[in-house]
Amino acid sequence: MKDKLYTAAKPTGRLTLGNYVGAVDNWLKMQEEYDSIFCVADLHSLTVLVDPKELKDNSYAVMANYLACGLDPKKCTLYFQSQIPAHPELCWLLDCITSMGEASRMTAYKEKAQNKNNVSVGLFNYPMLMAADILLYDAKYVPIGEDQRQHLELARNLAIRFNNKYGETFVVPQGVYQKVGAKIYNLQNPLKKMSKSDFDNSGNILLEDSLDEIKKKIKRAVTDSDSKIIYDPENKPGVSNLLSIYSVLTKQNMKSCEAFFEGKNYGALKNEVTNAVISVIEPIQEKFKFYMNNKDEIENIAKEGAEKIRAQAEKKVKLVKEKMGLLF
Ligand code: AMP
Repeated sequence: MKDKLYTAAKPTGRLTLGNYVGAVDNWLKMQEEYDSIFCVADLHSLTVLVDPKELKDNSYAVMANYLACGLDPKKCTLYFQSQIPAHPELCWLLDCITSMGEASRMTAYKEKAQNKNNVSVGLFNYPMLMAADILLYDAKYVPIGEDQRQHLELARNLAIRFNNKYGETFVVPQGVYQKVGAKIYNLQNPLKKMSKSDFDNSGNILLEDSLDEIKKKIKRAVTDSDSKIIYDPENKPGVSNLLSIYSVLTKQNMKSCEAFFEGKNYGALKNEVTNAVISVIEPIQEKFKFYMNNKDEIENIAKEGAEKIRAQAEKKVKLVKEKMGLLF
């Protein structure tokens, strides 16, 4: 039997190059090797996104991009989180073994809640829902970007805590992080993550951006005052970010990328990065259009995906409820 793998992206916006480089590119290899579940985490989107039409459009678009990038329903399971009510059900059960202290320490929550006066309980609860997503399916591996490391650690702690208190129930998941590209930064502010939830996308490349927009965004990417093209995230965050993108997309290690750019200028770096991005994104965009024009195909794939895993999720929740002393 193959080991299980679980991961997701939330449809709070359209997928970015950061999602591709830091996550989806890696998932393509993993679907060959593991019993993989790739979820569109629509319930998570409600923590930040409220417009129903936008949520629907984004949900279709994220699934269309999964398929366009090469996730294959014959090799893996694809579904929308809200199709399986066991997710929020297990979340509640995990909420009750999570302390306010540990949930309050989540830096993603603190960052998102900062300077906002209308923060939802859902946003606070996000990490416990994410833990439920993973633990429902006995996932051994969870490929994620650096931004999710703390949440994964919480999922591990909750699994261990539950197992210790109620007996062996959950597989303790392991995060899988890429060495290069685990965090792709905003091209205009290379100290900030490239994110699909931003209001201003001038520093974010979206997989659906026109090729012209992509060229312009990379051309305007922030670099720095000297002219050396080396990987040094601390002192040269902008250049290092471009090198990470180049390294992952051209499948070369960082040493050979640095050697390739030795003696070249930033203009050359930006041209090469543009070519690499376009050669990956152009064919994805073709397929993306097909799926967005055939939404019934997306719905059928998701229905079949959810059917494959629903019973397993329900069985896990039943077991957890029994162990916690619930009668029905
Ligand atoms: P999200 O965009 O938060 O729904 O995340 C979906 C997946 O993409 C997760 O595995 C994230 O860790 C990863 N991810 C999101 N943004 C980036 C980024 N800028 N760089 C690398 N990985 C990312």
